Amino acid sequence: GEGLPRPDETRVMVVANQKGGVGKTTTTVNLAASLALHGARVLVIDLDPQGNASTALGIDHHAEVPSIYNVLVDGKPLSDVVQPVRDVEGLFCAPATIDLAGAEIELVSLVARESRLQKAIVAYEQPLDYIFIDCPPSLGLLTVNALVAGAEVVIPIQCEYYALEGLGQLLRNVELVRGHLNPELHVSTILLTMYDGRTRLASQVAEEVRGHFGKEVLRTNIPRSVRISEAPSYGQTVLTYDPGSSGSLSYLEAAREIALRGAGKQQGQHTVEGTQ
Ligand code: ADP
Ligand code: MG
Repeated sequence: GEGLPRPDETRVMVVANQKGGVGKTTTTVNLAASLALHGARVLVIDLDPQGNASTALGIDHHAEVPSIYNVLVDGKPLSDVVQPVRDVEGLFCAPATIDLAGAEIELVSLVARESRLQKAIVAYEQPLDYIFIDCPPSLGLLTVNALVAGAEVVIPIQCEYYALEGLGQLLRNVELVRGHLNPELHVSTILLTMYDGRTRLASQVAEEVRGHFGKEVLRTNIPRSVRISEAPSYGQTVLTYDPGSSGSLSYLEAAREIALRGAGKQQGQHTVEGTQ
């Protein structure tokens, strides 16, 4: 890997959208692998009890494996749970195990319940260029922990009907966390996923999203691709599963845009009118 600028400081990217099935996990693992293949050191934090990001990266996450649950609830250091990803140098994963499902409740009674992930990341001493946090499809305490720990929110949007529905709620939460807990937080990146350029609907949705968000939307859209959806069942990202495929090339290009945008410091108030 070569050719892309590396950030001066670790960029912590929160991949969020409280809708399920929009491509959060797919985007997390494939952007992370793309950047690692370009030579960056990248950590994926799996914050979804389903553990789909861990699976897609070929990481053991059966019930006894030290996981992000132990970090959040027991205060274990992140370095105790991070595992290297096979096949991709510079890529690491903090896996999620099924007990993370209980953390949403267990966190409620803990001290500094919103900032436990942030504390763990700050204490992590290995040098990293990027951290990608894969959020669950909800706006509970796990997602709040991610929003407090990160600076950049990455929102994958599936190019289908109702694509913008519910986004208002996510954006209000981002504003709340920014106002009270994390002044750095902003939506830096919108990525259109499962894009089928042959359908009129997809191009209409894409136009609508670009109209609402403008420059945060990456130029690169991720196409709907069977290779992308097959890769996780082999414990691989599409980057190693089928490097020449359109899905692989599109994630590499999206990752290049993210790297070139640097810290993406542009901030702004985002409201999605009429979609709440
Ligand atoms: P989320 O994490 O938001 O729930 P996922 O990333 O798990 O969403 O994606 C939902 C489903 O769609 C998965 O089965 C995944 O393999 C599939 N998928 C995601 N992106 C694409 C794509 N570009 N082309 C085809 N299938 C995709
Ligand atoms: Mg997911």
